[in-house]
Order: sequence, then C-alpha cells, then structure tokens
Amino acid sequence: MFKRILIANRGEIALRIIRCCRELNIQSVVVCSTEDKKSLPVMMATYSICIGPAKAKDSYLNQNAIIEAAKKMNCDAIHPGYGFLSENADFARKCEQNGIVFIGPSADIIDRMGDKQAARKLMMENDVPVVPGSEGCIDTVEDALKWAEKVGYPVLVKASAGGGGKGMRRVYSAQDMKAAFDSAKSEAESAFGNGDLYLEKLIIDPRHIEVQILADKSGNVVHLGERDCSLQKNNQKLLEESPAVGIDDDLRERIRQTAVKAAKAAGYFSAGTIEFVLDKHGNFYFIEMNTRIQVEHPVTECATGIDLVREQILIALGRKLPFEQKDIKINVHVIECRINALSTGKITTLHLPEGFGVRVESALYEGYEVSPYYDSMIAKLIVFGSNRREAVRRLRRVLEEIIVDGVKTNAHLMYLLTYQPEFIRGGFDTSYWKKVEGDLIKELTEVSK
Ligand code: ADP
Ligand code: ADP
Ligand code: MG
Repeated sequence: MFKRILIANRGEIALRIIRCCRELNIQSVVVCSTEDKKSLPVMMATYSICIGPAKAKDSYLNQNAIIEAAKKMNCDAIHPGYGFLSENADFARKCEQNGIVFIGPSADIIDRMGDKQAARKLMMENDVPVVPGSEGCIDTVEDALKWAEKVGYPVLVKASAGGGGKGMRRVYSAQDMKAAFDSAKSEAESAFGNGDLYLEKLIIDPRHIEVQILADKSGNVVHLGERDCSLQKNNQKLLEESPAVGIDDDLRERIRQTAVKAAKAAGYFSAGTIEFVLDKHGNFYFIEMNTRIQVEHPVTECATGIDLVREQILIALGRKLPFEQKDIKINVHVIECRINALSTGKITTLHLPEGFGVRVESALYEGYEVSPYYDSMIAKLIVFGSNRREAVRRLRRVLEEIIVDGVKTNAHLMYLLTYQPEFIRGGFDTSYWKKVEGDLIKELTEVSK
C-alpha cells in the first residue's frame, strides 16, 4: 500500500481524494497556492505544502514545484485530480522518472489518448466510429477550407489539446472559416499552450453519452455504465445523469461495448471515460477520451456503489480489479447538478443539502472566499432515487434547500429547470439548454421582483 499520496489539485476534488486516502489509511499531502492556504483540503489533509502564488501557472500547473514538494514530503504517489496536470503526459513522465507513481494511466497512454487527434487516429485504426473529419493537424486556413469542403458544412474547428469546452468553433460556411480558425487557435494557445487544430463535421444537436471505464494493468477492462451529459452551456456540462433515458437496450449495449473496445485498443489502465456524440438516427461517434477521474464521477459511484478514486489508487499499485463485468449492477437513477459561482466574494451563510438519497461534494464553508483565479464550480449536488422521476423530485428538493449567500450562483435557475416538461421527460439533446435558458432567466427575474 502507498504510505503517502500527494494531491496536486484543489477544491472539492482534492477533498474527495483526501477522504479516500483516510479510508485506505494512507497519509495525504495536499499542495496549495497562497490563495488557498485557508482551504478545507489544507485543513483536512495530513499535511499541506504551499507551492506558489495564486495563478495556476505558478502553482497548480508548476510541474517542478509539485515534484519537489512530493520528494520533500516523501510521497510515493501523486493524484492529479481533474483539470490542471491530470492529462499532461510530460508531468506523468516526470513522476515516473522521479520514482513517484502517477495515479492514472502511463505517460505513453496519455500521449496516445489525451491528445484528441492522436486518439481519433487510434480509434479509426481499431474500428471505433469517429466523427468524420480531417486527417492530421490543420496548419492553415486554406487547409481548413479544403477539409471543410470535403466533409461538408457545418463543421467544428477543434483544439487537439482542448478541454472544458474551450478551443472549439462552429463554422457554417466558408466565409466564417478565417475568423473561427484564428480565434480557436489563439484560445487554444492561451488555455493549453498548444494551438494545434483539427476539424470535425458538426453533428446537429446530438446527445452527449459517455461511458465510465475501469481497467487494471493486467488487461481487465470493465465499463460502469453510461452517463448522459447533454445538458451543456457553451459545450460545458451543467448536469449529468445515469442511466441515459430513451435509448433501447441494444443501442445502450453497443455504446458500452464500443467504449470497452476503445479502452482495450489504447492498452488503457486506471479510470477513464470514453465520450461519444449520439445523433438523431442512433449513430454514435467517439469524440474524445478523458484519461483521468471526471467531475461527474460520483454519478457512477452512486449508480454502482464502486469508489472510483479508491480503484484508481489500487490499480496504480498493480492490483487486479476485484470484480468482473457481470458483478456490476445498476439499480438506481442518479442525477448530478453542478453549482457554479456567477460572481466572486465571501460566503456569508451556507447550507448544503442533506437527507435521503443525497450526496454533496464541495469544499465550501462559511467565510470561504470564492476566488477569480480558479474554476467557478463550487459544489456538486448528486441525488439518486429508484427511478428518474424520484431523482428529479429529489433534485428539485435539494436545489430548493441549498443556501449560498454572498455570491450569485446558478442554483435557482437549475431549480426552475426541474419544472420544465422537456427536462422532466428526459432524453433532451445538447441544444436544449440554449432553447430553455432565456425562459428560465425571464422566470427568475419575475420571481425576484
Ligand atoms: P469533465 O470532462 O470531467 O466533465 P470538464 O470538461 O468540465 O470535465 O473539465 C474539468 C475541469 O478541468 C474543469 O475545471 C475544466 O476547466 C478543466 N479542464 C479540462 N480540460 C482541461 C485542460 N486541458 N487544461 C486545463 N484545464 C482543463
Ligand atoms: P472538451 O474536451 O472540451 O470536453 P469535447 O470534444 O468533449 O471537448 O466536446 C465538448 C462538447 O462539444 C461535447 O460534449 C459536445 O456537446 C460538443 N461536440 C464536440 N464535438 C462535436 C461534434 N463533432 N458535433 C457536435 N457536437 C460536438
Ligand atoms: Mg469532453
């Protein structure tokens, strides 16, 4: 067993990993920026170590500072969480070179699957359906125009290193290409330090269906069912659920098995997610693999009863999966809602929902200062029930119950969403939020008059 794990992250995911370490009797060392010295992870970890100033570039993305901290604190492993360095192959390699276990897949696997273009290529070679698109990198606007002609408009210009919905532009006709290309490139360069672009056909109003995978170093791969993450604003997830509704058993099984095939093709180990878009005709296409723990992993944990972070740690130690596919049962409907801060400031009053069928992941406390430096997600509310209807009711209840005074949040808007007939029915696609948001905002203003 590991003696001491360094957590190279902050916020709710750092706390999530610290809790898991405690249950496994592993000491935790959490890194922090000067901005986060008073955070719950710092209070809850066995040890903490400040690695630099507020800006992520100087702290949570500072590879050398993190490796040095791990060595100084005698850590045998590093858990990167999500975001930050979690999909950085160079960082994983540095860990390996310094004799520190990176809790995730190997650097080589991240090279193969963390980069979207590389992953597309590998998937095509292994008969996993990918969205029609360009082959290799697109270096110039002329190149982009040529490929767009070939696959047919509308297209999506995407960053190879993209994440969090960034570095992506829709292009409906040739005259819009130059502006889209230039802005995607500069956004990708500043967000990911890598401006490589490629192009995909834009699938019209698809659903986002992803499959959670667990794989060990002995080649055993299982899936833990799918999550429907179609509620998105600007290509970023707002709410996730499992199982996906309105999909027949045959299609569901094909999506799940394709994900297993994709993971095997990559020689994958650790927890990972295969993301697909599903069109109106039941065709699904691989879009990317996330080679890390995901924001919405508690959805699958509540659905299956399996602790994904614990499994990641045990897999990193070389243990075999303690279950087979037939042992994995899904008996509940789970929904997660992301609570985002819409302003910065100090939390004056806080009540996080509790009760039957509820799990809350958050690092908030009264007096906490929501900082402009990091991600705006401040809590995840996860609810489960024996069916979707029950889960929706419970979601409504927790969104009514939550109190976060001092900053603006999206909680009330999400509460109003739970009354929308299309939401209640389920099975909506990625264009749904855009259609409903205006009405919800109008309703919200009327309510608060
Ligand atoms: P998930 O796929 O787990 O739902 P998101 O796409 O919402 O995750 O991203 C998870 C977090 O990681 C967010 O805070 C997002 O801003 C950040 N993130 C995702 N990809 C990257 C990346 N390549 N570089 C930096 N941050 C990223
Ligand atoms: P990120 O790394 O930012 O999560 P993804 O490739 O997963 O990037 O895409 C984010 C979202 O954008 C998807 O969940 C989906 O809603 C939308 N999207 C991505 N590719 C396509 C496509 N080819 N056609 C239509 N929508 C897409
Ligand atoms: Mg994605």
